[in-house]
Amino acid sequence: MENKLNDCIIQGMAMNNQVRFFAAFTKDIAEEARKIHKTSPICTAALGRLLTAGAMMGAMSKNDSDLVTLRIQGNGPAKGLTVTSDSKSNVKGIIYNPVVDLPPNLEGHLNVGDAIGDGMLLVIKDIGLKEPYVGQTMLVTSEIAEDLTYYFATSEQIPTSVGLGVLMNYDNTVDVAGGFIIQLMPFANDDCITAIENGLAQFTSVTDFLSKAVTDINTGKMAVPDDAEKAGKTAVPDIAENAEKTNAPADTDCSTSAFILTEMMKKILGSDVQVEAVRPTAYKCNCSRARVSKALISLGRKEIQSMIDDGKPIEMNCEFCNSHYEFSIDELKEFIK
Ligand SMILES: [Zn+2]
Repeated sequence: MENKLNDCIIQGMAMNNQVRFFAAFTKDIAEEARKIHKTSPICTAALGRLLTAGAMMGAMSKNDSDLVTLRIQGNGPAKGLTVTSDSKSNVKGIIYNPVVDLPPNLEGHLNVGDAIGDGMLLVIKDIGLKEPYVGQTMLVTSEIAEDLTYYFATSEQIPTSVGLGVLMNYDNTVDVAGGFIIQLMPFANDDCITAIENGLAQFTSVTDFLSKAVTDINTGKMAVPDDAEKAGKTAVPDIAENAEKTNAPADTDCSTSAFILTEMMKKILGSDVQVEAVRPTAYKCNCSRARVSKALISLGRKEIQSMIDDGKPIEMNCEFCNSHYEFSIDELKEFIK
């Protein structure tokens, strides 16, 4: 049976409820971003990592209408990134210079740190209040995962470990992408902390784990259990109820990717891993002709009149998804009627 690995996020508790975690499989999201923005491999990695983090942080939302935006302002050639996720983990993003090419770093990896450079990470949470909540921290390594770990520790005061990874094929398309966010509950004891540290120390990387797991699934070396009972504590809840919370088709089957993510969390956190929710996640832009019209109107009468005087239709491109909107002179005239 062909296992389609659909993008998804699992959420759960581990180690006797002393730890909560989110883990994400985001291959399609990273590949969609690559196609839209025509990113170089370094930029695919950078944007894919931030999109993965954004999708998981969207899943942390308390209210359905919450939005979370991650903005990296760095002095490197990538000129910064922005990612926005809604509470349903519909995520979109942009990297302002998508064609950065640099030699590999000292470890022989894509040099995301130098592409981003030094700067700040902003986490902007719009939870329906007059002003959004903005948390701002320095970039520590500019490799994104460490920067988010530092953000959670300092700005939200939650001991957290973030892992993110995007692996490319030889043709520079995305092979696998994913990540995790592990957070200590306030009452976590020292044994638990030591166990996590040990678990993380022996865990090589998200991409190593995911690419091996995907290979094992595809070659039949690893099999998804027929039902949750056989999987022992891998109790994956029925996804149908969660599916309606996202814009992904309700019949999106996340069972294989959720299984792989559960195995990844067990590898780090031990066997006591309880999955509480599985949800699809997707690259999705919410732009529309109506929204773009609004943005045009907000430029003001004077600006629109000068466009009319120019006598040419106005073209607008959505920077998140490259959707193209054209407005005729007659339509512009309607805006200032
Ligand atoms: Zn768009």
